[in-house]
Parts: sequence; C-alpha cells; structure tokens
Amino acid sequence: MAEAVEQALAASDSLVVEAGTGIGKTLAYLVPVVLSGERVIVSTGTKTLQDQLYFRDLPLVLDALDIPRRTALLKGRANYLCLHRLAIARTEGRLPSREAVAELERVQEWAGRTVDGDVSTAAALSEDSGLLPLITSTADNCLGAECPDFEACFVARARREAQEADIVVVNHHLLFADMAIKQRGFGEVLPGASAFIVDEAHQAPETASRFFSLSLSARQIRELCQDLLAECAEVSGAMGTLREPVADCLQCLREAQLAFASRLPERGSWQAAVRDGEVRAALQALDRAIAALAAESEALEGRARGMDGCIDRLRDIRLRFDRFDAPDGDSEVRWFERRGRGFILYITPLEVASVFDAFRQQSEAAWIFTSATLSVSGDFTHFTSQMGLHEAATLQLDSPFDYAANAVLWLPEGLPEPRDPGFIPAVLEQAVPLLEANHGRAFLLFTSHRALREAAEALRDRIPYSLLVQGEQPRSILLETFRNSGQAVLLGSSSFWQGVDVIGDALSLVVIDKLPFAAPDDPVLQARSDLLRQAGGNPFTQLYLPQAVIALKQGAGRLIRDVNDRGALVICDSRIRSRSYGRVFLDSLPPMKPVGSREEVEQFLDD
Ligand code: SF4
Repeated sequence: MAEAVEQALAASDSLVVEAGTGIGKTLAYLVPVVLSGERVIVSTGTKTLQDQLYFRDLPLVLDALDIPRRTALLKGRANYLCLHRLAIARTEGRLPSREAVAELERVQEWAGRTVDGDVSTAAALSEDSGLLPLITSTADNCLGAECPDFEACFVARARREAQEADIVVVNHHLLFADMAIKQRGFGEVLPGASAFIVDEAHQAPETASRFFSLSLSARQIRELCQDLLAECAEVSGAMGTLREPVADCLQCLREAQLAFASRLPERGSWQAAVRDGEVRAALQALDRAIAALAAESEALEGRARGMDGCIDRLRDIRLRFDRFDAPDGDSEVRWFERRGRGFILYITPLEVASVFDAFRQQSEAAWIFTSATLSVSGDFTHFTSQMGLHEAATLQLDSPFDYAANAVLWLPEGLPEPRDPGFIPAVLEQAVPLLEANHGRAFLLFTSHRALREAAEALRDRIPYSLLVQGEQPRSILLETFRNSGQAVLLGSSSFWQGVDVIGDALSLVVIDKLPFAAPDDPVLQARSDLLRQAGGNPFTQLYLPQAVIALKQGAGRLIRDVNDRGALVICDSRIRSRSYGRVFLDSLPPMKPVGSREEVEQFLDD
C-alpha cells in the first residue's frame, strides 16, 4: 500500500485502496506522505479519529523517520471557542439557570488557559452542553476580520496554522464544506495541496452529498432573530423598528415547527410537505414574515457592523427560501427532515460525481481514498462511480488477521422475516443464551431506533449484565463504560456500526438484527432510484444492495480489531440465506468459519 501511495503521490494520480482491518493503512499512507515533502491534506471520518491521527500516528511517523514537518490540526469552527460570543454571553445575562452561569464562568476561566480553544478539551463543558451554541461561532454570525477579538481568535489562528503547515489533518465535514464554499466562489478555508488523502473514504459520498446540498433550518432563522435583537443594542432606535417584525417572525416559525411536527413524518420530499395545506400555509406565512423583517431592517443598514452582518444573513435566507419555490430541477431533489422540535429543508444534488470530478481535476493533486470497506465482492464500481473516479487505480488488500481460526459466523435458521412483528423477540430468543454463555461482552446492532428500543425494553430485566443503550448516554461514555466493564452488552444503531474500536476480551460477540438496507422512504435515495431507472439501470443492484453490503461489512468489522481478537458474528436476517442477493453479502465478509448451530457458537466462545 505504501508503494502504491508513493507512486500516486509522485504522479498526481488518483488511487482507491481497500485495506482490510489490521493492514496498518494509516502508517502506509503517512510514511510516503512525510517522505514526499509535499503539502498534503489528510482527511478522516470523525473528530476522534482526527485527534488520534494528529496526536498519535503522525508524531510516531515523524519521529521514526526523523524528518521535521510542520503539521496542523484543523476542525470545523463549531469546535473552537469564539471569544467574541463568549464576551457577549457574559454581558447579556440571557442564561436560563444559575448552573449555566456557573458553567459559563468556568469556561471563561478555561479560556485564559487553553492554547487552541478546542471546546472538546474543556473539562468545564459537557459534550451536549446547552452553552455550546452561545460560545462557538457559525459562518453566519462570525464577524471575521472586523471582529474586535480577531487577533486572539482561535478559529482564525487554527486556519492560519493550517495555511502554513506541510501536513494538515482535517475531517470530511471540513474537507467537503471547503469544496462547497470554493465551488460557490465564496472563498476557502483549506490551503491548496499537492495531495489529498481521504481515510474512512466509504463515508465520503454521503458527506459530499450533504455539503453540496443547500439547506435552510428553523434553527438558522431563530438564531438570526435572536442575533438581530442582540444587535439592536448597538443601533439607536433599532429596537423600536425591529421588535415587532422579529416577534412576528418567531411566532410564524413556531407555527411552522408545530405544523411539521404534527402533520409530517420524520423526513420526506418537499412536494409531500407542501401538499399538506396546514404546512403550506405555515411556510407561506413564515416567508411573508421574513420578507417583512427584511424590509424593516434594510432601513438600518450601514449603522453597525453586526447589524449589517444580520441583514446579509436575512437576504441569504430569503434567497434560499425562494429556491424551494422554484420548480424541481432534473439534477436535484428538494426534501425536509425534522430535527428535535425544528426542521431542515434541503436541496440535494442527485449525484456528486461530476462536481467532485471537476474539483479533483482542477486541484491537479493526487487523491488517495482508503478504507476497510470500499468494495462489493471485490468490485469498486459502486464507490468509484459515486465519486466520479472512473480512471482511478484500485487496490484491494486483505486483512492479515486469521479470521478462519479466530472468528465464527452463524446465520440462525427458522427466524421470521424482519418485517414480521415477532422478529425482534425471535432475535432475542437466539441472542440471550449467547449473551449468557459469553458473559455479556457483546454488541447488538440494529438497523432502526424502533428495533433498538424494543430490544432494550425486552432485555432490561432479563440479563444480569450492564445494558448500555444508545441514546441513553453520550456515545463516548457508553463506549468507555463498555470497555471498562468487561461484561457489558451494548445496544446500538447507526453510529455504532462504524468507527468503534474495542480491542480484546471486552467484545467477542456481535449480533446483527437485519441486513442494513437504507430506509425505503429516504427521499434522496428515492429520487436517485428514479433517475437510475429512467437511465435503464437497476436501483436495487446498483444502489441499495452495494450500500447495504458496505454497511454490513462495517458492522461486522467491529468484532475483530486485533491479531489476538476472537469472536462470533451472528446475522439474524433470514434473507441472507433465502434470497439470491444473500451471496453478495456473504462473499464480501471476511473469511470467518461458518457454524451451523448456537451450541457451536457457545463452544467456540467457551474455548
Ligand atoms: S473572528 Fe469570529 S470566531 Fe473569531 S472571535 Fe470573532 S466572531 Fe468569534
């Protein structure tokens, strides 16, 4: 892998590498990157992986090679303390409780000590603290070079360091957000580079699609209203002008949120949303209220920097709203999603391949994509076609682990199909004896939150091990408790299928309820299916199946993380045996030893 990466770097080529677990893919790209002496941007899937790469792997390689390189870690702006907003939060006194005031004072104290302003390192702040939106910035509310705190600004400093570094470690959100900004001609965050390494690349198509989308959220509108009121303090007479239109706007927003919550499913197409009379009327009223607010606020333009920033945001929101009213283009889909009490509207491109391809060509850089899960039965077409990498070289390297000796695969027989109401109880009927035989030490992975909740309820008083359930505590706490307990059972959906590393005895059983096909009501996937069908393609084999295979490989990959790991994988979806496509899933899994009964699994776990 290192040689292939070295060649791609030298020739500014594109390369796609599937590197099975345990290959050492991080070192295999970092060594040639450091040796190349070029400026390289390395992007990975999550902030945790980003920290691991920057604080552990990169220094290791630099030390071993004894080559000095300037390195920088850059995250999205929401990860850094905003000194300006911290000052506003302290003077405004809008905090809801005494605890919040005390928390803010602890943050202020930490602000004097921190070197990089990364809020994830502030012990004073919990992961989901309500203070975070008040003390971090967004592209909308940042004052940029006009900010009184610009000199000491952590975001600006991190970006400056990235501009000057040889190797910059970022995450996919930032990488694709930067591409989207460049594509729209609004500037840039990341420096140019001779090469881009995209690790955990299986996530890239989804992340790219999200960032090339245009969105408008209820939260954006609410925050703008709040910021407008705050800015009124700086402009005499502004409060008298804006109080009423802002209040109208907030009232219309509340009504729109209520209409979304009471009339619509979690997500769906824009057409479905506006077909509902109540939702349509609420959105029209909101549109009118925003227009009225924009008209009133324009009279205040040029009076204060902060107010001008808000007026620009208001114009931008109006333009976005107008885009949703325009007829559907052939190349995009308009849709909505409910989030908490709010909603987000999106316009998502049906394909990102051409946009990404154009960006890649223009960069004239080498592009290396790697992950443990990129191919489907050895074929990379699904990934390369999504990313427009038609001429990229591909390389598949199997894991060096001895799966045949260290892992077994059991596909229980006689279970009902997943849509049967008795499915989850039947899955648990098989899983509980295994949990007992294995003394917990298991992940139960579900494809839906509903199934997860049903299983959690059923298991709560049934097993004598700590039951850790996704959603009941933050993910990092669940994982830490799981690792430390050594006898726990973790129930997870979505985010636990990937990027989770539990090495050793704490995890030796993974039970998967269902083949992870995407939900059929996903409006983006539906629109992509229609497009594919029109072009004579087959959405199931070209879209749904490869996506599910890669997701299953990710889930199964949680089991064996190290050369000494042992464990059993149980897949309870009978379709893997009964349907012809089941073979595609089985052929894509690591070569674990198949076993035919629960007793054999128990025996293996007992050895
Ligand atoms: S420049 Fe932006 S992020 Fe930095 S302190 Fe000012 S408002 Fe906050």
